[in-house]
Amino acid sequence: MITNETLELVLQSLQEFAKEHLPDEKLIELDERDICPMDLVHHMCSPDKLGIQLLFIPEEYGGMGGGAFDVYRICEEMARIDLGVATAVLATFLGSDPITVGATPEQKTTWLSRIAEEGLLFAYGATEAEAGSDLGSLRTIAARVTEDDKVVGYKISGNKQWISNGGVADVCTILANTPAGPTWFVVEKDAKGFGHGKPENKHGIRLSNTAALTLDEVYVDADRLIGGVEGQGLLQAQAVFGYTRLMVAAFGLGAGWAALDRAIPYSMNRIQAGAPLSEKQGYTHKLIVPHVARLEASRAYIEETAERIDAGEGSLNTEGAIAKYMATEAGNLAADASIQALGGYGYTHEYMVEKIKRDVRITTIYEGTSEIMEMTIGRDRWQFHMKTRGQHYHEQAKFMEALHAERPNVGANIAALALHALAEVMERAHVGKLTRHQHILLRLGELIAFAESAACLARRAARMVEGKLDEKTNRRFDATALAAVSRIFAREAALKVAEEGLRWAGGADAVSDADMAAFEASLSLPAIHRAQAGLISDMDFIADVIYGRAAKRSGLAA
Ligand SMILES: Cc1cc2nc3c(=O)[nH]c(=O)nc-3n(C[C@H](O)[C@H](O)[C@H](O)COP(=O)(O)OP(=O)(O)OC[C@H]3O[C@@H](n4cnc5c(N)ncnc54)[C@H](O)[C@@H]3O)c2cc1C
Repeated sequence: MITNETLELVLQSLQEFAKEHLPDEKLIELDERDICPMDLVHHMCSPDKLGIQLLFIPEEYGGMGGGAFDVYRICEEMARIDLGVATAVLATFLGSDPITVGATPEQKTTWLSRIAEEGLLFAYGATEAEAGSDLGSLRTIAARVTEDDKVVGYKISGNKQWISNGGVADVCTILANTPAGPTWFVVEKDAKGFGHGKPENKHGIRLSNTAALTLDEVYVDADRLIGGVEGQGLLQAQAVFGYTRLMVAAFGLGAGWAALDRAIPYSMNRIQAGAPLSEKQGYTHKLIVPHVARLEASRAYIEETAERIDAGEGSLNTEGAIAKYMATEAGNLAADASIQALGGYGYTHEYMVEKIKRDVRITTIYEGTSEIMEMTIGRDRWQFHMKTRGQHYHEQAKFMEALHAERPNVGANIAALALHALAEVMERAHVGKLTRHQHILLRLGELIAFAESAACLARRAARMVEGKLDEKTNRRFDATALAAVSRIFAREAALKVAEEGLRWAGGADAVSDADMAAFEASLSLPAIHRAQAGLISDMDFIADVIYGRAAKRSGLAA
């Protein structure tokens, strides 16, 4: 376990490292020249230097035994510096994940200790040309090599595509088909027959090495089969999805805030029409404040999920998917708005937001695309809806109503409206068998993510008032401001769930006017519309807080 003091020290070291080694001019130059700064990646991963890797490794193997919460904070900070370098560091963590979850004790001692002691760089080799989102289609083969009827090793043949650290890793974990199914193997870079392509010329994260891998009858001893049992590969990959997606979620969060943290000071100094842009409500309330609300809703979901993983609630794959979906989509929108916020300057390399926007784009693609996240969320929560005969989200809404009775200003009542409406949309989908349309299932995934995030942010705002937030939390706002952020986001979520739910579930099949009117009435749209009252004054308040102005405390003290 890592104490809060240690975590703060690591975060501070990262910031100092970035200031010294990765100032903006250097980042821009490396990005333009498409260079992965290996010296800096090694510096970050070496145990006698920054040693970020140590955080990911359990204590019994020489690491610091950081939990999901610690890892989220570090990933957010790394993403604020550069998502390419962050990806290079994360690749070791992803690459060694199959070992952490599935290896034998001997294998763990060998590989995890070497990462801790030697700063080994790993790559995670799953994707292939024909096997991206659908890893089950992989074609890389691991053929058994036997002696006296005993399996002594494997010969691995195939091609991997878009592997982070692929051209620079010391060791790769490779997913290959054995006779018993997909299985992870550890392959060292010098293995005969193992090669890699030239670095990909990418849209973003150009400071990260991404390369194809080729395996031509690469021989590995049987002890390189992770866990010693064939066919466990997909299960081992799934076992950590909650955790790994949380890290990419933290990347989206960090990159989104990095962009806003450039747009905000810029707008204080840029004078147009006689006043700083920061004083123009049509600017702040479109380009800054809504993105702050979405990013902080994502943070609430990331933090709650991290706490639950650390408390031993399991791998929480669906929660990881919601966190990733919300944070990476919000990060992309925030970075895009930041280009707009800087106008023509934002469109040039020099001002960095353009680079951040290109970099953050990857977060909705790797570790599961946004559409795969929507599908995962939709399918999982559909089960909840069915098992509870449609009551799951009504029950969640009741928790919010109870919270509202205790803490009337954290937006819990509006989150409750979102959850009730969601339950009705799902019931409509159930009765009409609408999930036979894949689009409806995926849209449900999106609405679920918004409604759950609104509830989560309201809980976080209430905990903050009560002084019950995790001491390791990232506190960008005080309790009153976070309550206002929560109200802003809950209004957006409730309106989205009801109106888009009406659009998609209502639009799925031809129905009578009376049927449509009954569905519409079930969504409590008038109440959701009334809940929008106060939106602009909450946004004014958050703009004042962000810009450090003598905020007119939004009359609704939390
Ligand atoms: C820079 C970079 C780094 C990467 N690093 C790694 C790494 O280190 N290790 C590794 O193993 N992989 C890595 N990847 C691969 C990455 O994980 C995959 O690109 C990703 O999983 C998507 O797979 P795909 O590209 O084949 O797209 P596809 O799966 O072909 O998807 C294409 C589009 O179709 C959608 N789609 C797919 N299936 C469905 C469906 N059933 N229903 C509806 N829509 C669907 C997707 O959402 C997407 O929009 C990396 C990729 C990049 C670009």
